[in-house]
Amino acid sequence: MSWHLKEKLRQTLAMEQNAMVFAPGSRHGFALVYPNTYRVGMSNLGFHIIYEQINQRGDTACERIFLPDKKTAEEYARTNTPLLTLETQRPLYEFPLIGIAITFEMDYFHILEILALGKVPLLAGKRSEKDPLVIIGGPCATFNPEPLADFIDAAIVGEGEEVIHELLDTYYLCKQRGLTREEILRRFAQIEGIYVPRFYQPVYDVNGVIREYRRTADVPDRVRRRWVKDLTRYKAQTVIVTPETEFKGMFLVEVGRGCGRHCRFCMAGYCFRRPRMRPLAQISEAVAEAQRYGLKVGLMGAAISDYPEIDRLCQLILSRNMALSVASLRADSLTDTLVRALAASGHKTITLAPEAGSERLRRVINKGIDDQHLYEAIDMATGAGIPHVRLYIMVGLPYEQDEDVDAIVEMAQNVKKHMEGRGSKGKLTLSINPFIPKPFTPFQWLPMAPVETVEARLSQITAALKGQKGIEILVEPVREAYIQGVLSRGDRRLGAVLHTVHRRGGAKAWKKALKEHGLDDAFYLYRARSLDEVLPWDNLDMGLETGYLVKELGNAQEERFTAPCVPGCVRCGVCTSPAKEGVI
Ligand code: SF4
Ligand code: SF4
Repeated sequence: MSWHLKEKLRQTLAMEQNAMVFAPGSRHGFALVYPNTYRVGMSNLGFHIIYEQINQRGDTACERIFLPDKKTAEEYARTNTPLLTLETQRPLYEFPLIGIAITFEMDYFHILEILALGKVPLLAGKRSEKDPLVIIGGPCATFNPEPLADFIDAAIVGEGEEVIHELLDTYYLCKQRGLTREEILRRFAQIEGIYVPRFYQPVYDVNGVIREYRRTADVPDRVRRRWVKDLTRYKAQTVIVTPETEFKGMFLVEVGRGCGRHCRFCMAGYCFRRPRMRPLAQISEAVAEAQRYGLKVGLMGAAISDYPEIDRLCQLILSRNMALSVASLRADSLTDTLVRALAASGHKTITLAPEAGSERLRRVINKGIDDQHLYEAIDMATGAGIPHVRLYIMVGLPYEQDEDVDAIVEMAQNVKKHMEGRGSKGKLTLSINPFIPKPFTPFQWLPMAPVETVEARLSQITAALKGQKGIEILVEPVREAYIQGVLSRGDRRLGAVLHTVHRRGGAKAWKKALKEHGLDDAFYLYRARSLDEVLPWDNLDMGLETGYLVKELGNAQEERFTAPCVPGCVRCGVCTSPAKEGVI
């Protein structure tokens, strides 16, 4: 056991405020893993929320574990030290329950690395009665946990604040009664929102498509996603204050959850759809707390400018001589007050997400934003003294034509010209990502655009805008997007591939490992699924009515607008009784 590693963890703990540390043995242990570095994990609000929920129980001590950097991982291996928790520097394998919060597909590789470093058997089927139960949660667990099925014992589908307590209560009761691991998992599978993959065995056709899932225990046909009906019962704000986060100097505050805009590419919009807003009074308490720490308020939510009381919230923050920050904004719901508040908070860039260059393609994806919205938003920003503009764009969107790619270039040139026309000398940044079709969206059946097409389109855009003063282009790594593309709609057979990649030491071995296991990325990426195909995530239920996604796919093809969520609506099936469900 390395003294140096323990000391490093103690130093990290010492720079934090509000970490909760309990004497070993005084409570049950729960290891909460973020499968990326400390810095990334501590920037994730969901991670803070679950940490607090577990510790508030009084019977459980939640201890955090992160992916060590390369040098530290080598030190763990060299000194034969099992991966240790931050709070009490205990080995991961000693915890009876391990929860892993997963937000990005590329972190799947890190999960195996962490379990191996923590000396936890990688395969769920190989774990004995004394080994931990490994439970995943977060967006990836909600939309498609199948590629990780071999390594996990259970997945939490949906929002975790309530179901985590049901899971822990069930676990402690089962342990008191001396139940086996298998029996505990059977009990877990009866809890709404908990998926236990081992009880749903896929049967494949010769062509590799899933023929059916066979239930091997008395479990629900489909696992319903959990959601919190009354958000006000749970705070969602920074719990542990640390200088080491992506949002340095910021106190994160959730203003609302879900999004009712129905953008057809957006997994968050479909899986966490039901829009629920927090009352201003509750957010105001969080703002007061941010002030006690002397931190800027980082407003979190799917579409911040859609918050009905955004102006009053901005005024409240400024009236306390505090600053605020937001990620990207919807160009069609910006207010002058919000933009001025951002400028007063020191924002130099306004970030908008038109997603596509042409209005036609924006209709396909139901973005609901036209060029005029962009110009008006830029006018507001320029008028408030925010010089720079960043636009999020995707290439390879469904039904994209060559003209739509030309339109990205035109949009960039027009926006830049517009900025200059308003006297702005600011920079325009295009942040471009390849489009990845996601489960539970109307595009879940469609092929991803071929990598060659996406690369050619990116080169075309870059070449067309090359040398244009004040325009910068940032492109996400394209090859990585295609690994994400496989994992996001992948099936359980990818577990063997992840395992091989892990043994070979990283994602570089991906393509070769796929081949070795008789799989082809084209099967996952480029194949149009038929509408009646059994999809890997069909065991999960987001609450959408059967046929709703097909209807929305038709609307995309017809470029028809789907209106946002409104009170009283029962359109998609998610709200059965809007009055009771608390939808805004
Ligand atoms: S506005 Fe659209 S892209 Fe943004 S969160 Fe909502 S549905 Fe998703
Ligand atoms: S039922 Fe209506 S309000 Fe509820 S999530 Fe669906 S579209 Fe939105």
